[in-house]
This record gives sequence, C-alpha cells and structure tokens, in this order.
Amino acid sequence: MRSFDALVIGAGTSGAAAAWHLARRGLRTALLDARPFAEAGARWVNYVPAWLFEAAEVPVPVAPELRGGVAPFTVTVGGARVTVPENPCLAVDMRALVHRLQDLGQTAGVERFERVHVRRVGCTAGRPVEVETDAGLLRAALFVDASGLNGVLRRQTPGLATDCPTVDRAHLCSAAQEVRSVRDPEAAAAWRAHHRLAPDEILSHPGVAGGYSVVNLSVDAEHTHVDLLTGCIVGEGYSGPALIDRAVREHPWIGARLFGGSGTIPLRRPYDRLTAPGVALVGNAACQVFPAHGSGIGVGLVAARMLADAVSGGGDPGDEARLWGWQAGFHARWGALLAAYDLFRRLTQSLDAADFGRLLTAGVVNAHQLELGLLQHLPVIGPAEAAGFVRAARMHPALALHAARSLAGMPALLALYHSHPSRPSRRALRLWSRAVARVCGDRPDVP
Ligand SMILES: Cc1cc2nc3c(=O)[nH]c(=O)nc-3n(C[C@H](O)[C@H](O)[C@H](O)COP(=O)(O)OP(=O)(O)OC[C@H]3O[C@@H](n4cnc5c(N)ncnc54)[C@H](O)[C@@H]3O)c2cc1C
Repeated sequence: MRSFDALVIGAGTSGAAAAWHLARRGLRTALLDARPFAEAGARWVNYVPAWLFEAAEVPVPVAPELRGGVAPFTVTVGGARVTVPENPCLAVDMRALVHRLQDLGQTAGVERFERVHVRRVGCTAGRPVEVETDAGLLRAALFVDASGLNGVLRRQTPGLATDCPTVDRAHLCSAAQEVRSVRDPEAAAAWRAHHRLAPDEILSHPGVAGGYSVVNLSVDAEHTHVDLLTGCIVGEGYSGPALIDRAVREHPWIGARLFGGSGTIPLRRPYDRLTAPGVALVGNAACQVFPAHGSGIGVGLVAARMLADAVSGGGDPGDEARLWGWQAGFHARWGALLAAYDLFRRLTQSLDAADFGRLLTAGVVNAHQLELGLLQHLPVIGPAEAAGFVRAARMHPALALHAARSLAGMPALLALYHSHPSRPSRRALRLWSRAVARVCGDRPDVP
C-alpha cells in the first residue's frame, strides 16, 4: 500500500497539470493513467488562446509544440463570410503539451503509475480514502478525478454519483482532428486562392451536419499540410470521424493522415457540484469545457491551477470546506462564463446552416463577437451588435425572437454563478442548482 497527499487519476492535460501544480506546491503527489503515459490525453492539434496558458501558470507553447503562425479565422455559411483578422488561438500539438506537463510533474516529484486501472474506490464515512488498482492499494487525502468524460471516481463517490448526472447525448459533441499531407499542392493552392485564404487561415463551415456541427480546414504556406477539425452533436446521424472522411472525399488534393484522433466532448455547463470530501473533479470529468466550440484544454488547465492553490499550504488537502471554496471560486469566475456560453451553444444547436448564415449577414454574430468567443471572453452587446439585432428583427423576425429568447438568460446566469453558496451546504447547493436549471431549462443537477 502506498500513501500520498494527492492522487490524480488521468494523465491528460487537466490531470498532468493538476499533479504538477500540486507537487510544486509541496504535496506528495501521484499521477495515474489507464493508458501508457505516452498515449494519455488528447493526441491531436487543439486551439487554445495564449492567455489561458498564462492564467493556468503553464509556460506558453513554442514550436514544435506550437504549430503554424498567426493567421486569420474565417467563418462562411449561406453566402455570409466573417473574418477575424488574427485568430487569437494557438494551434498546439497536444501530444507535446501533454508530454511537457507530465515531464514538469516528474521533475517536481510526481510519482507515476501508467497502464494502471482503478478497480474500486474505498470510502470511510462516505469519503474516499483509497483506490484499489492494478498497482496495489493507493491511499490519498485528496483524489483528483481527471479521467475525462467517464469520470471513474465521480461515478463511484457517494454524493458525486447522484449530483453529477450522466451527460445527455444532446449535450455531447463527437469531434475529430487530423493533420494530413497534401497530395496535390497545386490543387491545394488553387483551393486557398479560390477561398481567398492566407497561409494557415482556418476556413470554418458551420452547420454542415445539423446545428452546432462544423468542418474547419487550413493549409500551410508551403501546401504540404492540411489541418482538419470536425464536430457535431452525438446522435444526429453523423460523427466527427465521418465528417473528416466526407471532407477528404470532397477535397481530392488532401493526402494521407499524419496524425490525429477523435473523441467525445461534454458541452453542458460544468457540473454544479465539483467536489465531495476528499475528491475534486477537473477537466472533462467536471464538464469544464467552453461550450461554444467544445474547448476544454484552457479551462481544464486553469481549474487545475486553481485547485492546487486552494488545497496547498498545509492541513488536509481533501478538507470539504477548502474544496468547496475552490468550487465556489471556479463557478464565480469560470462557471458563469461557461454557463452563459452554453446558452449560445444551445442556440447554434437549434439553428440550421441557413439561419446561422442569416445571423451572420444581419451582424448579430460579427467578427468582434467571434473573436471574443475564440478568446473565451464574455460576449459584449455594443452598438454594432444591437444594430445587428434590429436588422435581424426586421429581416427575420421569428429568428431574431428565437435568438433573443435563447440568450435572454445570460445576465441571470452571470448573477447566479456569482452567488454560488460559499460554505458547504447541500441544501443551499440544491436551491442554487434549481435556480440555475430553471434559467437553462434543465433538470437540476442536485436533486
Ligand atoms: C477531436 C477533438 C478536438 C478538440 N479540439 C479542441 C480545441 O481545439 N481546443 C480545446 O481547448 N479543446 C478541444 N477539444 C477538447 C479537449 O481535447 C478536451 O476537453 C481535453 O482533452 C480534456 O482533457 P482532460 O485531461 O480533462 O481529459 P482527457 O484528455 O480525456 O484525459 C483523460 C485521461 O484519463 C485517462 N483515464 C480514463 N479513464 C481512466 C481510468 N479509469 N483510470 C485511469 N485513467 C483513466 C485517459 O486514458 C486519459 O489519458 C477537442 C476534443 C476532441 C476530441
């Protein structure tokens, strides 16, 4: 039997970052993954704004982990075209980032257990105290569930199992990302010229396979590589990988797959409850994902850093009040943002491509709003956006009304998330959970 201050389960970005931050703050920390460490977490290219690395105290990626240069980001649908002149997101090779975070952790003293599965969670008075694994019994004061969507601890921890419902298929995104060679550089150059695209400029086609779906393509300056990113709602008859196959068929100049992968992303707002005594959820396990484009890297990294801040400095790192303080702090800053954007995500999910194009044409969604969305900043309704709504109301009254109704709850959600109960109280959390669910039109997480 081995004993630690903190045991982190899942060595993807969220878990590897959590383990590193905990260890560098002086906690005896272990990191465990069911896969070999070299295969843990995301294995493709993800897009992350630089400022989120800074907020997470993770050194900003540099080449070759950082791919491509600064380039525009263009959305086109139904004849409408909107360009953000400088895409604020970095294209990051996740294989390198995950490896770097794991390495930082090892240097800080994190003990590693790879190819190790959690078999059973052992509790004392409802609090997890040990996990039975292929590597024997591992005890810890704090268990961090960073095991992704399935949440291996979340499902086995009293309280969390009941208060964190399984994510409905309507709130899951099937996504795929691949980097492929270019088979025919001349044809790729012609495609780029036809669409008036700069090198590395992403051309985004929303609504290609139902509401929320997207196919993004970009080609580098030398026409040697093409990056493809696809996503759609699970259960709508498509999948991320199928959309990649379709895009490759439609662009015969695209060549062989160099690397990439696929997975399922939870799009719902973060769980209302992120902690139980001795347990914290981070990353996909907590649904800490920016819903408008299914981006979980930045928020997961920040949540991991915030957690380490909250539980370090002596005493029991699994103490209920400390963990609750982290949960309240996360919700006030990040839960508010993610929940507000979840309303926007649900709006886009309810629209077909033509309607989304109409909102772009009217200016309800413009380059500034797109940039704020890419940056994962709150939307701002200024004079230009208000004028866009007025235009949309004149041209497409039913659509404008639907959009306005869908987003109307944003201010209420922002206020609610700032009033998350500050001390452990399931009763107070239940009331808060009900209020949030009412605005979102959902069932409350906490029954
Ligand atoms: C194709 C695709 C493209 C995406 N694009 C973007 C993007 O551009 N920007 C962005 O920010 N996000 C993007 N995302 C989302 C992002 O990849 C995820 O939100 C992020 O990887 C979640 O990190 P995580 O560490 O929480 O979980 P994961 O990356 O899922 O890692 C979980 C780890 O836990 C391990 N594990 C699971 N079960 C167990 C168990 N029982 N015992 C031990 N270990 C276990 C797994 O092996 C894995 O290594 C994309 C996702 C996909 C699928």
